[in-house]
Amino acid sequence: MKSWMGEDLGADGFGLANVPYGVFSVGDGDLRCGTRVGDRVIDLTGLEAVGVLRPDADADVLDAPYWNDFMELGPVVWSGYRAALQHLLSDGASEDTQDAVIAHSVPVNEATLHMPFRVSEFTDFYASRHHATNVGAMFRGPENALPPNWQHMPIGYNGRASSVVVSGTSIVRPHGQLKGPSDEMPRWAPSERFDFELELGAIVGTTTDAPLSVAEADEAIFGYVMLNDWSARDIQTWEYQPLGPFQAKATATTISPWIVTAEALRPCRVAGPERRVDLLPYLQEPGPMLFDIDLDVGLTPQDGAETTITRTNYSEMYYSSAQQLAHHTGCGCPMRSGDLLGSGTISGATKDSRGALLELSWGGKEPITLNDGSQRNFLEDGDTVTLRGFAKGAAELISFGECTGQLRPAR
Ligand code: MN
Repeated sequence: MKSWMGEDLGADGFGLANVPYGVFSVGDGDLRCGTRVGDRVIDLTGLEAVGVLRPDADADVLDAPYWNDFMELGPVVWSGYRAALQHLLSDGASEDTQDAVIAHSVPVNEATLHMPFRVSEFTDFYASRHHATNVGAMFRGPENALPPNWQHMPIGYNGRASSVVVSGTSIVRPHGQLKGPSDEMPRWAPSERFDFELELGAIVGTTTDAPLSVAEADEAIFGYVMLNDWSARDIQTWEYQPLGPFQAKATATTISPWIVTAEALRPCRVAGPERRVDLLPYLQEPGPMLFDIDLDVGLTPQDGAETTITRTNYSEMYYSSAQQLAHHTGCGCPMRSGDLLGSGTISGATKDSRGALLELSWGGKEPITLNDGSQRNFLEDGDTVTLRGFAKGAAELISFGECTGQLRPAR
């Protein structure tokens, strides 16, 4: 699809095949809903107000500092609005329309990006076989690495919506209870094994209180963001039995500011790894439900240059977000617009495709070396972690933008 906004618009991953949704402000101005096209942010709240592009004829759904009201309108409205927006930006648009779009846009470097939606709930999963096998081997030994339930269902835990922050927010190293020299001598101290997790976040768009099939769950997902599930490994190892992660995962979770819509990713679908056992019927997929998304993680020391420390692909996952959502709703658990589901750490088979320092440094035993010669087992104060994703398979590359955060010293 060609655009009057520029010839090589899709080269940066923000062409008409993408058209992601976010929330921005300029200077001291209000928070507004927008999209990014090339190097401009277009004010969709403004285009709704002047009647150029309205998701709903009767109500101002974009007159809000989040996309939740729009998400609740459901897939038919999502699709119609996206088509109309792409039409406004494509070569067929009238000159009046083009003038209105330009009048309601700013250069991307003048916009401050905010949380694109209100997170109603947050659940995090554990869905890469390589990640689960590596972590299981470190925590419980190689013979007990993958628990027997793992290849039958998506394992997850209920997280904290209050901990989710937008890219660019600094993260303070947490305190927690750590195992001491013996089980009788724990201590309260700043985490010494603070880590990132490379994940994809799926955003539930439509509210439901009934169990969903995998196909229905897929339809209920509005879009996806990059997600960093910051994790304190020393807190985690001491607390996780018998009820799973708690304080180790509650400090912060960072998401990228642009929601890449499920519709934009549809041409990027791919099948996942082969299954060793058949899934129960309620978890079987009607077709390929993963996406071909190249992922990488950069680590930048304070005042230093970035080193790429991992490269992998989302298609490594064993369970899709649609399967996770179907499983999640199966017990009758209600889902609200703005429910966020973390995919679980995305790790590939090779050493340089692991999605967390815990695996990259093998539990702190094999430190990785950065470009400046310094070594890391876990994060140091001042380190910045940046996740990036580029989906392939659509007419153009689709960028997720950056999901970044700097670690500050414990208070
Ligand atoms: Mn996680």
